[in-house]
Amino acid sequence: MSLPSFEVVRPRTLEGALEELERHGPDAQMIAGGTDLVPSLKQGLFSPRVLVDLKGVRELDFIRFDREAGLELGALTTITRLAQSPVVAEYFPVLQAAAKTVASPLLRNMGTLGGNLCLDTRCLYYNQSAFWRESLGYCLKKEGTVCHVAPGSSVCWAVFSGDTAPALMTLAATVRLASPRGEREIPLRELYVNDGWVRLTKRHDEILTAVRIPLSSAGWKGTYKKLRIRNSIDYPLAGVAVAMRWASDGVCQDVRIALTAVNPAPRLVEAAARLKGKRYDPSLVDEVAHEAIRTAKPLRTSASTMEYRRHMVRVFVRRALNEVWANGPHC
Ligand SMILES: Cc1cc2nc3c(=O)[nH]c(=O)nc-3n(C[C@H](O)[C@H](O)[C@H](O)COP(=O)(O)OP(=O)(O)OC[C@H]3O[C@@H](n4cnc5c(N)ncnc54)[C@H](O)[C@@H]3O)c2cc1C
Repeated sequence: MSLPSFEVVRPRTLEGALEELERHGPDAQMIAGGTDLVPSLKQGLFSPRVLVDLKGVRELDFIRFDREAGLELGALTTITRLAQSPVVAEYFPVLQAAAKTVASPLLRNMGTLGGNLCLDTRCLYYNQSAFWRESLGYCLKKEGTVCHVAPGSSVCWAVFSGDTAPALMTLAATVRLASPRGEREIPLRELYVNDGWVRLTKRHDEILTAVRIPLSSAGWKGTYKKLRIRNSIDYPLAGVAVAMRWASDGVCQDVRIALTAVNPAPRLVEAAARLKGKRYDPSLVDEVAHEAIRTAKPLRTSASTMEYRRHMVRVFVRRALNEVWANGPHC
């Protein structure tokens, strides 16, 4: 479990970081806070020849709120800063709620938003030492040919286990990606691929530079519910983000529900649309909570059972909707 040897380069500008990625090609890997990547390097899950350390690129560390453009968050914003931002707390409560649950205080101080969104997918058969993995003949995600979670599957079922992505998806966030070829902006949900091995649509040399939440999502009420083994530190076993906006008469104008840690990608729940144009109705909330299970496909990727995680998705969707609706007008 010792670190392999590699070279570290420390660019000070985005342009410099892009040059390093172009120079070293597939031999390079980005590192920000290192809270996820460093343990993975020790487990032999990656073996880059060069680490491009983004922490010195200070132009990527910002939180900007503009009454026309909405909220912009630089990729190097730490999770602590996100959780403590007064603007995030006032206008985007679902994001604050999710950020507060990430890992532990020390990891939130080091961990960045960019790293949180680009997290590698996780699985019981993958996040292990090289010795452990070798004893099983490795797995589909790394060096092997068989998925131990779903033998016969041609896709990898390792789960995306970040907490801020589902919250940001309920707020219709977009992400900016920069590469030596230029810049592009895509909806956050399009960053992910529902295959734990492929996992991101982002190319190897693209740096996630910023996240943008449109002004139209400001003021939506929201909450985040998370299942994990130890509430003080662990990755989610299931996570549910809900954000909602009402008309002044208490009718739900719009609502989004997103799930994490129960699929290879964070996913929006389509059944949320049934709540649009409706007043609070506990049986409708139950119906949507039940339907959310169709979006959650947890397999045996963690120490917990898939039945329990699916059950908790239903419980959390119901609790989150009840809680958010209770804060609305004329409930
Ligand atoms: C014990 C433990 C518990 C944890 N619990 C949680 C949890 O509950 N919830 C949770 O969400 N996370 C959890 N984490 C993971 C991690 O701490 C956070 O997700 C953190 O925000 C990751 O950010 P980072 O800057 O440290 O990423 P890094 O480790 O530096 O990078 C992670 C990945 O993202 C890539 N990357 C980083 N920045 C960029 C960028 N700007 N553009 C493109 N790619 C980039 C890296 O190449 C790497 O593949 C936990 C980690 C540990 C060790």
